[in-house]
Amino acid sequence: MSGWRERLAAQRYDAIVVGSGPNGLAAALTLAEAGRAVLVLEAAKTAGGGLRSEERTLPGFVHDVCSAIHPMAAGSPFFVGRDLPGLEWIHPPLALAHPLDDGSAVALAASVEATAEGLGADGRAWTRLVGALARDWPTLAPELLGPLRVPSLAMARFGLRALRPARALAESWFRGEPARALFAGIAAHAVLPLDGAASAAAGLVLGALGHVTGWPLARGGSQRIADALLARLSSLGAEILTGARVASLAELPPARDVLLDVTPRQLLALGGERLPASYRRTLARFRYGPAAFKIDYALSGPIPWRAEACRRAGTVHVGGTLDAIAQSEADVWRGVLPARPYMIVAQQSLFDATRAPAGRHTAWVYCHVPAASTADRTEAMERELERHAPGFCDLVLARAVLSPADLEAHNPNYVGGAIGGGVSDLAQIVARPRLSWSPYATPIPGMFLCSSSTPPGAGGHGMCGWQAAQAALGRG
Ligand SMILES: Cc1cc2nc3c(=O)[nH]c(=O)nc-3n(C[C@H](O)[C@H](O)[C@H](O)COP(=O)(O)OP(=O)(O)OC[C@H]3O[C@@H](n4cnc5c(N)ncnc54)[C@H](O)[C@@H]3O)c2cc1C
Repeated sequence: MSGWRERLAAQRYDAIVVGSGPNGLAAALTLAEAGRAVLVLEAAKTAGGGLRSEERTLPGFVHDVCSAIHPMAAGSPFFVGRDLPGLEWIHPPLALAHPLDDGSAVALAASVEATAEGLGADGRAWTRLVGALARDWPTLAPELLGPLRVPSLAMARFGLRALRPARALAESWFRGEPARALFAGIAAHAVLPLDGAASAAAGLVLGALGHVTGWPLARGGSQRIADALLARLSSLGAEILTGARVASLAELPPARDVLLDVTPRQLLALGGERLPASYRRTLARFRYGPAAFKIDYALSGPIPWRAEACRRAGTVHVGGTLDAIAQSEADVWRGVLPARPYMIVAQQSLFDATRAPAGRHTAWVYCHVPAASTADRTEAMERELERHAPGFCDLVLARAVLSPADLEAHNPNYVGGAIGGGVSDLAQIVARPRLSWSPYATPIPGMFLCSSSTPPGAGGHGMCGWQAAQAALGRG
């Protein structure tokens, strides 16, 4: 043993958390608030996991390396009502805009009424489908963001819709292309084929959250969310050690509980033979799915979108019609590179002057690619951006690309470049990573999994960590 291992060998903690993503930090904070002596061990130099922000292109340009837009955190029972000095949510005038080929755009606004108005004849259907879910959110949130349980009536009603394929749901509720495209673009965040069961879930949840919490970004960068949680942890006496990659459970100092913000593949490597064979087989079967290919841009001006609504939105979905987005996602699942990739664009600097020097701007753009793909998607992505924002390429001062391999090097939880902690299809929503009323517990007493590979899955909500900590405290 050497370095931190040697130094900590003589210490004893109530709880050790391995990994400091939003879930690791939420777990650590929940335990520290319960009076436990907590140690957080993080492999990277900077804590925060998927919440880190860095100057990736040019000096003065702050880029969110991973997560950028935070409906899941702003609507999370873990964050709501929590006093976190230094964390300020910024709400762009529009949560989301979705440009169409004719130069128009459809938008997700804070109010159900404004969104419905923009959808014309489909406005009523949006209100009945997504608006109703937004109204039910306070009742549904604990069930949606927690582990499997016997559903309430509201949850059962939601489930009947959420379990459908996104395409079928959109086609049965909406008659016009704009509403169908809007719904498809939101659903496609889940990285699922839009003809697959349960692919409607993300469309419903993220659509409703647009009306409940908005789709905010953190002033100064997503790193500020991590920094606020870290400051609170330190004030409670928790120890946070960065640059501490744990290679085996045997390296950890003694502790009553160990919570692991890692995915099943890493848990297998950490636990080895200590884990029973049947659990090892379950972990080995866990599927990660397609990857992301991301580009951060330093720009000399704002993105010159043809559609005016796109200039007022924090997030823009570039992908066209429901059919086009479904095709793009189906291609990725077949191992093919889509000719016209569906892309998620965030333009933080339009609403947060701290992100770029005066008059300059940032853009955060990613598309989906087959798992571990080595293809460079820059040209295909910029072709699509240029179609909807002529002159975009002339504004590029610098770009920094993150391929699937780069993403995994940045964070070992992004296995093969997959960013959601594992596929969130029906099978892995129910069994995440295994079918259990307490999927956080592992067969080793006092050892818990707390990453997005547990319910409720991907996002900066911290709820996987909060639930795992509840289990460790004997309340789960
Ligand atoms: C490009 C991209 C865009 C995204 N956009 C959004 C978005 O806009 N909104 C949103 O809500 N979510 C988004 N996400 C997803 C979000 O970032 C993740 O769902 C979230 O970070 C998962 O949190 P976590 O705590 O489970 O794990 P992570 O955030 O992945 O953190 C895990 C941490 O554990 C550390 N670790 C792993 N193994 C070890 C070890 N052996 N020893 C020590 N430390 C270890 C890692 O270094 C890492 O810091 C995005 C992700 C990516 C990559």
